Amino acid sequence: MKRITLLLFGAVLIVPAWGQTATPRKSPPDVYLITIDTLRADHVGCYGYKQVETPALDALAADGVRFTQAFTHSPITNTSHITILTGLLPSVHGVTDFGVPLSPQHVTAAELFKKRGYQTAAFIGAVILDSNTLAPGLDRGFDFYDNFPTKTETKQRWGRVERRGMEVVAHAESWFEKHRTGPHFVWVHLYDPHDPYEPPSPFSVKYKDHLYDGEIAYADSAIAHWIAFLKKAGVYDNAIIVVTGDHGEGLGEHGEETHGLFLYDSTLHVPLILKTPAGAHHGTVIDSQVRTTDILPTILSAAGVAAPAELNGESLLPLIEQTDTAQGPNRALFGETDYPLRWGWAPLRALRADSTKWIEAPRPELYDLQADPKELKNLYAPDGAGSNSKAQTMQAEMAKWKAKLPPPSNSDKPGETLPDPKDKVAVQNLLHNAMLASDDNRSSDARQFLEKALQLDPSSPTALRQLGELELAGGDFAKAAVHLKRACELRPDDSTAAFELGEALEKSGNWPGARDALESSLKLAPSQMTARLLLGHVYLQLKDAKNAADQFEAALLVDSNNSDGRLGLADAQIQQSDFAGALPDLEAFTKSDPRNAAALRLLARAYRGLGRGQDAKRTEEQAAALEKK
Ligand SMILES: [Zn+2]
Repeated sequence: MKRITLLLFGAVLIVPAWGQTATPRKSPPDVYLITIDTLRADHVGCYGYKQVETPALDALAADGVRFTQAFTHSPITNTSHITILTGLLPSVHGVTDFGVPLSPQHVTAAELFKKRGYQTAAFIGAVILDSNTLAPGLDRGFDFYDNFPTKTETKQRWGRVERRGMEVVAHAESWFEKHRTGPHFVWVHLYDPHDPYEPPSPFSVKYKDHLYDGEIAYADSAIAHWIAFLKKAGVYDNAIIVVTGDHGEGLGEHGEETHGLFLYDSTLHVPLILKTPAGAHHGTVIDSQVRTTDILPTILSAAGVAAPAELNGESLLPLIEQTDTAQGPNRALFGETDYPLRWGWAPLRALRADSTKWIEAPRPELYDLQADPKELKNLYAPDGAGSNSKAQTMQAEMAKWKAKLPPPSNSDKPGETLPDPKDKVAVQNLLHNAMLASDDNRSSDARQFLEKALQLDPSSPTALRQLGELELAGGDFAKAAVHLKRACELRPDDSTAAFELGEALEKSGNWPGARDALESSLKLAPSQMTARLLLGHVYLQLKDAKNAADQFEAALLVDSNNSDGRLGLADAQIQQSDFAGALPDLEAFTKSDPRNAAALRLLARAYRGLGRGQDAKRTEEQAAALEKK
């Protein structure tokens, strides 16, 4: 059993039990949530790590409660943050991959606080939490959600896909200046410790041999700025402040460089610090196992806001006040990752309870965390040797958790055994590095990583598709088509790969091939405008004007003013000798856009078809004059 350490300093016994609605309070507390991306608990100063300086986190822990054994349910940024903000397990809220919208049926912290009259705002450090693109629905309940600009000229990552911690905090502070009237619920997300590890100076110098720690120290300095601001604004003392990590970082443990694939403690163990109003419980250290689903019920209870009925976590206040006698101090952690499914590998589930970890995988794993905290010695024996009674107990416990979850939505084919992520980690590291290289426009590095990944796993659809995309962008259309064709064979339901194959074939002049690829892409995802227009052009090349017209008309139903669609349709009509049909829109088009030479050429053809030689000649001359320029 874990110990509960309560280091009480003086005043705690006379402070009213905050969070109990019976106690009259002058004003509801502000609530500040700070999430630090990719932060391992064992890389923070107040968690005993000596090679980093985190004075702001240490001071906050001294002012509040530090949980030494806090765990996230998910090693993926979006999934984990939605769990923090909804108090729901990943399978329950359903956002188990990027871009999956958060269903309106799941209420978020921001909505709950907003309903109680709070001013709500969120400041994010990475585009992967942008509610316009990769995290739809995460902005619900926030008066202000600091998304990234939709268009940006810059090619570097700063401002386009990532913001440094100081910039995030500066945005939060300037919002606060304009919204001084409380109470406030503000979420600040600091992405800095996420790879690539590129802390700014002086952290880049001081931590040059361990840049991950340098990013943590830098993020801490941003927190210091934010906390100093809150103190100066006079809201710190009465505030509830929560700091946690969304997940840790593999740092090479179990072969994993980053996070997402596995459910080991390297990526599940996160810091959790809770500062409560009026300095209550300051300096308390709690060693019970707790979870990120416990955060929402805790802050709601502390702020006196009623919690939704069906949360997967529980308030931590009884643990802090030592009134949690019924349940025992340790709370079982159910961990999930569907991230391996992206590459066609098996998803994982884990149960962490009673100092034991059970990982459900094609080759299951069982660890005695007391004797083997690094999870190096898998005790599970498939042939039924000694350890298996423990394995059976854990399996039975996990079955109880799974019974609480909705049925899996992914298209599990019965009997199909997907590869164990343990066998694929080297490939995944290469794919990840390729993605980072592409993000930074280092395409030859990206190509090298992808080629290596394909050597290890020749049928990796992700590697094939990414390599195809690289060749497509680089102009080697024949090579692109080879990779993309293979990707489509391996993943017949990948509409993007099929579209890109169509693009590669169209650019290589293979019209029938392009037609087939684009048709199958549109069958999978009918609303793709670009694919629809390209298919129209392919039909024009094939001299199949009837089908070309159908495609352009379908595109114009979605956007009646689309110029590519309008000109394409006119072209198809002219091919069918329907000159009178094409004329009115071509005249309107060239009137509003008189410098469009291609439109003038079409108009001239229509005139000529109608026997209006003079008009045709004049229009051709206009087009030629424009083309000369
Ligand atoms: Zn993250």
